[in-house]
Amino acid sequence: MSGSLLDLARPDILQLQPYQHAAWDPSLERLHANEMPWRAQGDNTRTGLNRYPEPQPKALVQRMAQLYDVPAANVLVGRGSDEAIDLLVRAFCRAGQDSVVITPPTFGFYKVAARIQGAGVSEVPLSRDGFALDAEAVVEAGLRAKIVFLCSPNNPTGNLLDDAAMLRVCEKLAGRALVVLDEAYVEFSGRPSWTDRLMAQPNLVILRTLSKAYALAGARLGTLVAGADVVGLLKRIIPPYAIPASTVDEVLALTEAPQRAMAAARIAALLDEREFMRRRLERSRHVARVYPSDANFLLVECRDAGAFLAAGKAAGLIVRDFSMAPGLTNCLRISIGTPEQNRRLLAAVE
Ligand code: PMP
Repeated sequence: MSGSLLDLARPDILQLQPYQHAAWDPSLERLHANEMPWRAQGDNTRTGLNRYPEPQPKALVQRMAQLYDVPAANVLVGRGSDEAIDLLVRAFCRAGQDSVVITPPTFGFYKVAARIQGAGVSEVPLSRDGFALDAEAVVEAGLRAKIVFLCSPNNPTGNLLDDAAMLRVCEKLAGRALVVLDEAYVEFSGRPSWTDRLMAQPNLVILRTLSKAYALAGARLGTLVAGADVVGLLKRIIPPYAIPASTVDEVLALTEAPQRAMAAARIAALLDEREFMRRRLERSRHVARVYPSDANFLLVECRDAGAFLAAGKAAGLIVRDFSMAPGLTNCLRISIGTPEQNRRLLAAVE
């Protein structure tokens, strides 16, 4: 393998002889994978859970390629975007030597994945007012790192990062570091995905997930979209049978045209509820500030986060406490629920 992005990868991973899983050839009967020849009692699944699933199932890869409008060669499917984050850090960061850049407050797993791998974590905080990206500082840190994680819309702040600032980071770090853009919430934002920028920005890696807009968090299906060289590298280290057969079947059934239309309608309904909640919370005397959101949640600065949390719990509802996170004093993150849940929360707080 050659090419500038792979030059950033761990040399031992480039040299690694990948695990040789049992050949996938559905035209032959399987006496090569030490499976049981019979199904478990009650197993009515399509392929039988006695069989190992297809590694990187072609139909599923094809469906995700279609969903995200990218070539199948640029797609890697895994167990949620979480798995993609883990694979990226493991493929590119040498323990004790390399590092990643994160922009707190942001999604917590980037840092944890880096720490598990023994990689360093360089933090370039988003601005205090408006949680904006400091492109110059990120570039400076990125020049000393292997991966920059950007999250837009950002969790837990809810805002989109500025396109021009992200582009600047990509361009300045071309050939120097990967820029991983996590678009877990992009469907709620009205902003087009950056997948169409992959050709122009070869150091760009995009993460998409079915966990949010497609209502399939329990299925665990995340998609990494990147240059074919990065996809090929990650295929060498992803566990051989990463996606359970039941997930493959469920996701194929639940991402057909009618489900996609329903997802679009649900997103629209959720955005109406988000706007309703924003207005109501803004008027509440228990709330100091509601941050603008491009995602399916609101970051809310409370007068007393503990009292807000307790009121929600008393009504049987839990929201996420960020009040101890740097820069987020008294802040809670409220996922938008059903209209009934949202009204119950408001009533409990008032
Ligand atoms: N990225 C972000 C920004 C998230 O908020 C989450 C989940 N909370 C993930 C990735 C992980 O999603 P998945 O379910 O696809 O692993």
